[in-house]
Amino acid sequence: MLPDTIPRSRFCHTPTPLEPMTALSRHLGGPNLFVKRDDCTGMALGGNKTRKLEFLVAEAMASGADTLVTAGGVQSNHCRQTAAVAARHGLRCELVLSRNVARNTPGYDRTGNVLLDRMFGAELHFVSGDTIPAIELERLAEDIRERGGRPYVMPIGGSTATGALGYVGCAEELVRQGSDSSLTVDAIVHCTGSGATQAGLLVGLAVLGHQTPVVGISSAEPSDVIEARVHELCGETITKLGASVVIKREQVDVLGGYVGPGYGLPTEAMREAIDLCARLEALLLDPVYTGKAMAGLIDLVRTGRFRAGQNVVFVHTGGVPGLFAYEDVLSP
Ligand SMILES: *Cc1c(COP(=O)(O)O)cnc(C)c1O
Repeated sequence: MLPDTIPRSRFCHTPTPLEPMTALSRHLGGPNLFVKRDDCTGMALGGNKTRKLEFLVAEAMASGADTLVTAGGVQSNHCRQTAAVAARHGLRCELVLSRNVARNTPGYDRTGNVLLDRMFGAELHFVSGDTIPAIELERLAEDIRERGGRPYVMPIGGSTATGALGYVGCAEELVRQGSDSSLTVDAIVHCTGSGATQAGLLVGLAVLGHQTPVVGISSAEPSDVIEARVHELCGETITKLGASVVIKREQVDVLGGYVGPGYGLPTEAMREAIDLCARLEALLLDPVYTGKAMAGLIDLVRTGRFRAGQNVVFVHTGGVPGLFAYEDVLSP
């Protein structure tokens, strides 16, 4: 499905496991829940950006770039995985880290992902939370060019059609794992943000002839904003693949009701979700993304959107290093 003509660097530990969450399913008394372990993609503590970066870094190197440049929040997982991938490929890395979360606990801008960014040798540029990432990125790229470097700029989350190819690959894996274990997947649920994870999954499933619903749970923005972006990325990804499928706007399903007070800010439901998964499954979620997405899934089970007898796959998109920047919120 992914043509060999598209440049790709291979470092993901794939296929990632698809595991039953037996105790959590029993506790909730609804559908059979499974987890696709994309927190275990392998590169420097893993996460969903690693799949995207297989294609992004290959495109960067094919273009002759010597520096990977991207942006995110202070505790950005995408930035950490980009820094790691740059180190592995002998590239430089410069990151714009936006102080876009109202948290000033000791260590928030030193531990977790930030500590790892530094360990991989990335250069960090902290900016205020009210700056516009695309503008900051262009300014930094210009600065790098003036210093004689050759930047490859990725938007927040690495969400371009090139990045989405990583999740076309994930959809292919899931379909194969389902058929290998005679499992009919009735729905897929995951955390959505910059959109390429959801777009890649939707396109990959469609190309393989599957209509499995994909429910994205927002970590930040309202549902209509993300749905529009995912839909646009679907079109661009289909073009890149040279595929002939169509994803309709109505097929893009994003729920915006689990964000709480804002991106990166704790909710009680997030805490409950993290707690349940830790105690029942020894499965670690993170407070910014997967904790809120799992809170959404738990709510969808409790309110009857998913029922007993159905099989629902939660794609664990990673983020666990961020746990350590939220010690104040999570310690019992
Ligand atoms: C980036 C990220 C997401 C969102 O994925 P997108 O492709 O940006 O929509 C979800 N979970 C985690 C842990 C992330 O780091």
